[in-house]
Amino acid sequence: MTMGGHGYDGVERRGLMFVLSSPSGAGKTTLSRLLIERMGGLKMSVSATTRPMRPGEVDGRDYLFVDKPSFEQMVKQDELLEWATVFDNRYGTPRSPVEAALSAGQDVLFDIDWQGTQQLREKARADVVSVFILPPSAADLEKRLHSRAQDSDEVIRKRMSRASHEMSHWAEYDYIVINHDVDEAFAEVQSILKAERLKRERRVGLVGFVRNLQSQLQG
Ligand code: 5GP
Repeated sequence: MTMGGHGYDGVERRGLMFVLSSPSGAGKTTLSRLLIERMGGLKMSVSATTRPMRPGEVDGRDYLFVDKPSFEQMVKQDELLEWATVFDNRYGTPRSPVEAALSAGQDVLFDIDWQGTQQLREKARADVVSVFILPPSAADLEKRLHSRAQDSDEVIRKRMSRASHEMSHWAEYDYIVINHDVDEAFAEVQSILKAERLKRERRVGLVGFVRNLQSQLQG
């Protein structure tokens, strides 16, 4: 299997930034995990955050948990590709792992909000593919927030009221997936990534590939 900067067909390609956004509880974390497990050549961007760690989370895997002064320092030193304040906490994408992955020809998956997506789009429109995940209903969203049992009732109430604000940004995204069923939603997100990987403009090796084909034909 050819990886790195090449597609499965051996043609060199620019890496892309694959962004998933949604209100919390719409299933984005599960979809991200499935993508990383099942798609080759895709690396998760691990964000830095000032929010407290939830039960079951691991520092360095789910987030880099940092205090406010350390986060401010990262901002000052321009170490973040984008950052935003969400639910009174700061979240941001460390720049260097993303640049390293992209230059090694890997695609990078981001679980970030609409504010971060706007910033990435401003920086690298041609390399950003964005997907917004919607829950099928408000009742479904609330059920999922309760079932993950990680947050207090007050936090859940806050997240529900933020959900409608977050959803108002759906039209800024390239693709919209409604998560009725996780397998179905995963298949849709996977198709988007597969198709985007085949986009002509990203496949910088095509010129050489076709030239080679033509010279063989002309024999
Ligand atoms: P949670 O606290 O539930 O893990 O995340 C809250 C929100 O912050 C989610 O919408 C998530 O997508 C967003 N988020 C996580 N990391 C980042 C980041 O690095 N940048 C931005 N802009 N948003 C982030």
